[in-house]
Amino acid sequence: MINFESREELQTFISREKDKGLSIGFVPTMGALHAGHLSLIQAAKDTCDLVVCSVFVNPTQFNKAEDLEKYPRNEKRDKELLEKAGCHVLFLPSVQTIYPDGTDHFEVPDVGHMAQVYEGEFRPGHFDGMMQVVSLLLDMVNPSHMFMGLKDFQQFAICKKMVEIQGRTVEVCGMPTFRETNGLAMSSRNERLSAEAKKEAKIIYETLDWVKQHLLDYDNSVLAELGERQLKNFPGLILEYFDIVDKTSLRHTNNKENLIALCAARIEGVRLIDNMIL
Ligand code: AMP
Repeated sequence: MINFESREELQTFISREKDKGLSIGFVPTMGALHAGHLSLIQAAKDTCDLVVCSVFVNPTQFNKAEDLEKYPRNEKRDKELLEKAGCHVLFLPSVQTIYPDGTDHFEVPDVGHMAQVYEGEFRPGHFDGMMQVVSLLLDMVNPSHMFMGLKDFQQFAICKKMVEIQGRTVEVCGMPTFRETNGLAMSSRNERLSAEAKKEAKIIYETLDWVKQHLLDYDNSVLAELGERQLKNFPGLILEYFDIVDKTSLRHTNNKENLIALCAARIEGVRLIDNMIL
């Protein structure tokens, strides 16, 4: 695996490989890697000739300074995992490399309603910062495919819309959520949970799964309320939202097709998000 910290060196290398006719698969991450991230590397290897992974904890997408400060970082382990997974290129830029002219020069694409609800509502500015960094990384890497996790469903949907608005040719591929054996969605933030909290957090998956099993037994709004109540009543868990919406528009519907259940909750001060396609 080749490591780059400089944008120029990365771009020189990539354009040389592209001139040879190689396709580039890109996996953007914030590090503290786990099996979910590595599944994206594998998907990129299965589809493209050359896999580029970036590890960059992007300050502009954190709406709380404390969350940025506490975000887990483990560069040495990330490198080992990526090497083992057969990643070809690791891009490890500094904040200065990504934002040489500061962070104010980004015209945020208007993706509409989907950036205003749920994560957009509870983390003001988060999606603007996320689009900013993904946009800059796409300029630098210029891949044919970008691989993202469906765990961050809104992020995936917004990136798909953003590349369409920007007229990019990159294909944005959404990959299934990797889970712990108890159902808890893998996340870098899980590192901050105690063993006890990790056990309890499985209630999120159980509730999503219960909703899926009972999809045809209730109206969508009733089902969403039942899921919400179950999580609100769970000791130690602070629910931010639980809802069932159309997965394309992220709006409420009475239809039983194309639905997704979305959820965010905090346990031990750690914010966890999850979803399930129904
Ligand atoms: P992050 O490092 O949290 O920014 O995540 C980098 C990429 O990995 C994003 O596209 C995430 O959606 C994806 N990802 C995170 N957790 C998982 C998981 N449990 N399963 C699959 N993909 C994931």
